[in-house]
Amino acid sequence: MSQIFLDEVGKILSPQYILVNDQDKTPYLTDWRKRYTGKALAVLLPANAVEVAAIVKLCAKTNTAVVPQGGHTGFCGGATPDNSGKQVVLNLKRMNQIREIDVANQTISLEAGCILQSIQDKTAEQGFLFPLSLGAEGSCMIGGNLATNAGGTNVLRYGNTRDLCLGLEVVTAQGEIWNGMKGLRKDNTGYDLRDLFVGSEGTLGIITAAVMKLYPLPISQWTTLVATQDIASTIALLNLFQQRATSLLTGFEMMTHESLALNEKHFPNMANPLKGNPPYTILIELSDHESEAHVKQLLESILEEAFESGLISDAVIASNLSQANSFWHMREHITLAQAQEGANLKHDITIPLSSLDRFIQETDKLMRAKYPGIRIINFGHLGDGNLHYNIAPPEGSDFKAFNLANEKPVHELVYAQVELCNGSISAEHGVGQLKLDGLRAHKGEVAHELMKAVKRALDPQNILNPHKVVSI
Ligand SMILES: Cc1cc2nc3c(=O)[nH]c(=O)nc-3n(C[C@H](O)[C@H](O)[C@H](O)COP(=O)(O)OP(=O)(O)OC[C@H]3O[C@@H](n4cnc5c(N)ncnc54)[C@H](O)[C@@H]3O)c2cc1C
Repeated sequence: MSQIFLDEVGKILSPQYILVNDQDKTPYLTDWRKRYTGKALAVLLPANAVEVAAIVKLCAKTNTAVVPQGGHTGFCGGATPDNSGKQVVLNLKRMNQIREIDVANQTISLEAGCILQSIQDKTAEQGFLFPLSLGAEGSCMIGGNLATNAGGTNVLRYGNTRDLCLGLEVVTAQGEIWNGMKGLRKDNTGYDLRDLFVGSEGTLGIITAAVMKLYPLPISQWTTLVATQDIASTIALLNLFQQRATSLLTGFEMMTHESLALNEKHFPNMANPLKGNPPYTILIELSDHESEAHVKQLLESILEEAFESGLISDAVIASNLSQANSFWHMREHITLAQAQEGANLKHDITIPLSSLDRFIQETDKLMRAKYPGIRIINFGHLGDGNLHYNIAPPEGSDFKAFNLANEKPVHELVYAQVELCNGSISAEHGVGQLKLDGLRAHKGEVAHELMKAVKRALDPQNILNPHKVVSI
C-alpha cells in the first residue's frame, strides 16, 4: 500500500516536494522539546489548497493517516507522527502567501504557512498591528497558531488566536475544500464551523488559509519592570492597572526570582535590572494611540499609587524601544534557559485569578514535601491567569532519571490542585499527544464523549492526526 501511495502522490506533487529519504525527513520528525521522535512514510510539501485536498483524498482512499505540520514549535507533540512509519507529514511551509490586506475592513487574508513574525512585519508596514505575539514567532506559522488556538503575550487586550480569526479555508477529511474566507464580524448562521476547526490541532481538518483581524498600530508604548513580594500583591497590582489603564494595558507578565536566576545562568547578558532579583518581577506594558507623554504620565501615576499602597518595592521604566525589547527578551528567554538546563516537567495551566495565590501556596507546599530540593520555575501570562508551573529536579541531579521516575505523579499532583481550583490543564499549548490521557479526566465524561462524536462525524476514517487530542 505504501508504494501505491507514493506512486499516486507523485501525480500530485513534483518529486522535490515528496521527501522520502531519512536525511530529508529527519528535521520534520522530532518536536521542538525533543520529547517525541516519529517516523513517516513521507513528508509532503504542497503549494496550495488544491494540492492539499488531492493529498487528503488520496489519504482517505488508501487509509493513510496524515499529520499536518506548521513551524513544528508546538509543545504537545501534536505535529510529530507516530512510530509506525505509515503516516505522512503534511508540512504547509510553502503556502506562505499573503492574499490581501483589506484596509477598509481591517483584515488580512493569508495562507496557513505564513510565519507569524513576517505577518507582524508586513502588516506594520501598512500601519496595522497584528497582535498575536509569542516566543516562537520567528518560526511558528499562522496555520499552527490557529490549530493550537495559541495565546501569547497580548491575550489580555486582544484575546487568543481564536478571537483574532474571522474566516477560514479548510480541507476536510474527505478532501473537500470548505471556503469560509469571510471577513465578517457578525455571521449568525447556525453552527460555527470556524470555531470548531480553531484549536482542533489538525484532528478535524487542515487549515489552508485564514482571514484575521487587524488593529491600528499603537503610536506610543511604555514598558516597565516592577518588583512585588508575593502573588496577592501582584494580583492587586494587576487589578489596579486594569482599573486605571483599562484597554491601554496590553501586557502583564510574571517572572519569579528562580526563573530569572536560571535566565542569568544560561544567558549572562539577561540579568534582571531590578535590584537583588526580587521574589517576583512583573513586566507591564501600556500601549495607546495618544501621545507618548500621555501614556508615560498615566504609567507613572499608577506606579506611584502602587508604591504608596505598598504593592511594589521597585520599578524601572524602559527609556527607549531597545530597553523595552530587552525586558521582553528576558521574559521570552526563560523557556530557552529551561531547555538549556534540561528537560523539565512542564505545566501550562490557567487558574481563576481569585484562586491563584492559594493554588501556588498549596501546590508548592505539597511538591516540596514530596520532592525535597525540587526547583519550581514559575512564570507566565499572569494577566490571563496563565501559569507555566514547571518542575526541575534538585541542583546537580540527573534530569532524565528524575523525570522518568516522577513525571506521572508530579503531573497528577499539579492537575489535582488545578481541578480543586476549577482551572484548566492546558491554558494555551493544547493537548496533542502529551495530554491525551489527562484530557478525559479533566473534561469529564459528557464533554469527552461530545468531542469524540464531533471527531467521528467529521473524520469517520480517523485519518486526520489520529491519537492526538481525542482517541476514537
Ligand atoms: C520558545 C517558544 C515559546 C512559545 N510561547 C508560546 C506562547 O506564549 N503561547 C502559546 O500559545 N504557545 C507558545 N509556544 C508553542 C507554539 O509556538 C504554539 O503552539 C504555536 O501556535 C505552534 O505553531 P506551529 O506552526 O509551530 O505549529 P506545529 O507545532 O507545527 O503544530 C501544532 C499543532 O497544530 C497542527 N497544525 C499545524 N498546522 C496546521 C494546519 N495548517 N492545519 C491544521 N492543523 C495544523 C499540528 O498537527 C499540531 O497538532 C511556544 C513555543 C516555543 C518554542
